[in-house]
Amino acid sequence: MTSEDTIVAISTPPGRGGLGIVRLSGPQAVEIATSLLQLPKLPLETQRATLASFAHMESGRVLDQVVVTCFRAPHSYTAEDVVEFSCHGSPVILGYLVECCLSKGARAAEPGEFTMRAFLNGRIDLTQAEAIRDLIESQTLYQARVAAQQLEGSLSRHLKPHKQTLLNLIARMEAGIDFAEDDVAVIEWREILTQVDCIRTDLQKLADGYEYGRIVREGLTLAIVGRPNVGKSSLFNRLLNEERAIVTPIPGTTRDLVTETANIEGIPLRFVDTAGIREASDQVEKIGVERSFAAIADSDLRLLVVDASEPRTEEDARLLEKLRPLGALLVAMNKSDLPAHETWVSGAPQEAVRTSALTTEGIPELKHRILALAAPARGVSPEGEVITNLRHQRLLKASLEGLAKAGDAAEQHTHHEMLLLDLYDALRPLDLITGATYADDVLDIIFKTFCVGK
Ligand code: GDP
Repeated sequence: MTSEDTIVAISTPPGRGGLGIVRLSGPQAVEIATSLLQLPKLPLETQRATLASFAHMESGRVLDQVVVTCFRAPHSYTAEDVVEFSCHGSPVILGYLVECCLSKGARAAEPGEFTMRAFLNGRIDLTQAEAIRDLIESQTLYQARVAAQQLEGSLSRHLKPHKQTLLNLIARMEAGIDFAEDDVAVIEWREILTQVDCIRTDLQKLADGYEYGRIVREGLTLAIVGRPNVGKSSLFNRLLNEERAIVTPIPGTTRDLVTETANIEGIPLRFVDTAGIREASDQVEKIGVERSFAAIADSDLRLLVVDASEPRTEEDARLLEKLRPLGALLVAMNKSDLPAHETWVSGAPQEAVRTSALTTEGIPELKHRILALAAPARGVSPEGEVITNLRHQRLLKASLEGLAKAGDAAEQHTHHEMLLLDLYDALRPLDLITGATYADDVLDIIFKTFCVGK
């Protein structure tokens, strides 16, 4: 089902850089590229870098030296003919090159269309296409590794034997039904049950791991709360500075209370600034406090910071009381480099970790506790299959429902025809995960989340 259109897009991010890449894919790709370039020889060689000149269409004046690479179908990213132009990274040149391709008959690519073609042409399955998006969007190496694992087809491979088992069961039962008068052996209830249970156990394990997978993919939000001067900002900076690599402000987040992201053992950790959470005196401050409180409640976990070198105050106690019912909570007894005040020595909260933002004592322990609390499944299977995608999770659950019904039906020795329907209900969602069967509108939704040029 090769597409007739030849599509074109700039595949590198917007802005200026050393290089910029324009990608062209489709039946006319080579013809269009050849017509636009001054090549050392014809035809354009495949899978080889060729230095060529790119000239202005009207004046014929050379604009740039480009390196072109041509991949012939099916040995390309999209499994179609692909030409990649590696130009100097000037938006003007790249834009003009795209315009030239359009004038020669190409069409501007939609977001994710290159990857969609790879999928439609059967080079990758849907989980692999999604993995490409996740890989591009990864913020930590750990996220990249999880995406790369999925890109290799690990999820599809994992599901394959289960699909095969279901298909076999279905085929044998269909045969049993169709040839009821002939002597096709009828499967025993016990055998059906055993096989269904085996799949259920494994799929359930996968589905259970999603909570952790979601955290891998989306990261965690941590609200830091405490009285003034207890060391919140210092602790915050310690958590950030330890992992300088991906400290990036995240623009465009819906909540402007979210400030920066740190990388804790590969999990992006976003901090929610909660400076405003104090007893409000006026209306304006009240709104600020309410917003902060909502953000604190929405966070994946909360860190209450106290100054353990000073007497325990009523406000410390009040904050602790307010935070406890909200869920996951840690208390940093900060300034551990100073002697601890006796009110803390005798009455340390059970969630306490001793820290010093000054000497970094206790910071690794704090990070460890943050992860252990918010992502407990991590310890279970650090390298196992991780479901990071909500679409996969939903389909796994749908399949599990079908399996549960099939299990019940087998236990109650229900008529084979009814049981068959349940088995189909279990199989269909698994096919949808890999995209073996799919609806166009679903594909549209998935590939729209890509950027243009991917
Ligand atoms: P915030 O108001 O809670 O954000 O507190 P800051 O981070 O601004 O810290 C208040 C003061 O406490 C500053 O002078 C810090 O240098 C100091 N401070 C913060 N953490 C520690 C610590 O672990 N030990 C000591 N000795 N001082 C600290």
